[in-house]
Amino acid sequence: MIFGLTFEYSKEMSGVVHTNTAELFLVGQDASNMTGNPAGVCYPTTTEEVQDAVRWARANGVAFIARGAGTGLAGGAIPTEGSLVISLTKMNRIRNIDIHRRTAWVEPGVLNADLSRHTSQFGLHFAPDPSSQQSCTIGGNVANNSGGPHCLSEGVTSAHILSLEVVLPSGEVCVFDSENSLFDLRGAFIGSEGMFGIATAIEVRLLQNPPHVSTMVVGFSSVHAGAMAVSSIISSGIIPSALEMMDAPITRAVEEYVHAGFPLDAAAMLIVEIDGLEHSVSHGSREVKEIVMRSGATSFTVAQSPVERALIWKGRKTAFGAIARIQPNYYLHDTVVPRKKLAEVLSRVTQIADEERLQVMNVFHAGDGNLHPILMFDKRIDGVMDRVHRAGAEIVRVSLEAGGVLSGEHGIGLEKRDFMRWMFSENDLMFQQKLRSAFDPDGISNPHKVLPRGSGCADIASIPPGSWV
Ligand SMILES: Cc1cc2nc3c(=O)[nH]c(=O)nc-3n(C[C@H](O)[C@H](O)[C@H](O)COP(=O)(O)OP(=O)(O)OC[C@H]3O[C@@H](n4cnc5c(N)ncnc54)[C@H](O)[C@@H]3O)c2cc1C
Repeated sequence: MIFGLTFEYSKEMSGVVHTNTAELFLVGQDASNMTGNPAGVCYPTTTEEVQDAVRWARANGVAFIARGAGTGLAGGAIPTEGSLVISLTKMNRIRNIDIHRRTAWVEPGVLNADLSRHTSQFGLHFAPDPSSQQSCTIGGNVANNSGGPHCLSEGVTSAHILSLEVVLPSGEVCVFDSENSLFDLRGAFIGSEGMFGIATAIEVRLLQNPPHVSTMVVGFSSVHAGAMAVSSIISSGIIPSALEMMDAPITRAVEEYVHAGFPLDAAAMLIVEIDGLEHSVSHGSREVKEIVMRSGATSFTVAQSPVERALIWKGRKTAFGAIARIQPNYYLHDTVVPRKKLAEVLSRVTQIADEERLQVMNVFHAGDGNLHPILMFDKRIDGVMDRVHRAGAEIVRVSLEAGGVLSGEHGIGLEKRDFMRWMFSENDLMFQQKLRSAFDPDGISNPHKVLPRGSGCADIASIPPGSWV
């Protein structure tokens, strides 16, 4: 008897489901601050083994949850009590690459960075590049419709998925693509956070590596000036391949250990990258320089070599690791605001953190208005989590009031489920629930996520909420 459910394995599941405490502890967490209590975890290596696990779960009335690398920040991979975790980490083969079509079929457990590392021999890459790309999986990217610094010009994951092989919650296998079916269901599945079934094979679009790249680091004496420069660049018609902002506290924390040459005297800095043909890169970079100087830039440097460029991106993409030097815990938020409201909302974020006596840092995808305020704290301090959650809810409220949205890329999961009514009408939620029920009538696949309680939710009733509520 485990967490109130008896796991009576059929022949094919015997020895396949692991129930030891250490493994369950590990798969009971993700990169959010939540935990869950699964009853078992299995590691299928083929689509058929995923089907076996799903069919077994279904026959036994046990909820199941797909898991990639567990780097999700919204609690999407937190298992509900007594559920079966289906970890895709062993389905990690790149099945084939078609250089002429610039496509690849991959298994869901392939790591994002491994795919581009592998295809670089052909001068190709997979465009979505989350900062977690060294560890997150393509399956997780699909389920969360993930973004990354270079999605500003190339588009997020949904723009790069051509076909999906999915094990539905019924245990059947379906292929979703644009060519062989009447309805193109890729759009419904991408971003469905594991609630519509499990992606077992994914056909991705690959892009040619840009022939020329210019990476600029620009310092400003205020966050306001940096934010205004972001608006000016985009409204001039230039779409950089990446346009990222870091405030002074995170710049200092990163520079101390990466030594990327970031401006330590700046209140905010931008990383602006332009890529393409030589002529357009040099023209675009000149224009960017003129715009940021007009916007009050206090420093402007350009990476002089691939090594310098790599160091800048190392600084940006490992920024979250730098936080450990300051506080043991952090809560990374994700909302989107209109670009012209960036400065105003950032100053409200600072006020909110001050009111709750929390330190805050900002490192984010400024070009698409995707904020990532990071609240830092020591969770051993009594009552600190209440302050963190209050501040988080207020950041969400302020972003929505500014005309923004709940999430830019991390998803809704458990974290934002109860904020859904702040943004969506009952009708919106009801239709989302109907779509969910069309894929999963019994609510057995990753239950209790995304859709708030009371929105006609058909999720499996026998599973009590876990410690994540
Ligand atoms: C330091 C850090 C930086 C980050 N930076 C970014 C960023 O720049 N951009 C961004 O978008 N995100 C970012 N993230 C969030 C996270 O890395 C992404 O959401 C990522 O896509 C999750 O992938 P994963 O393999 O870890 O998925 P998991 O966390 O394991 O799962 C996430 C969700 O996907 C579902 N799922 C996983 N695999 C499958 C599958 N095969 N079929 C169906 N459902 C599945 C799970 O059930 C869950 O709901 C960051 C996270 C961290 C910790």
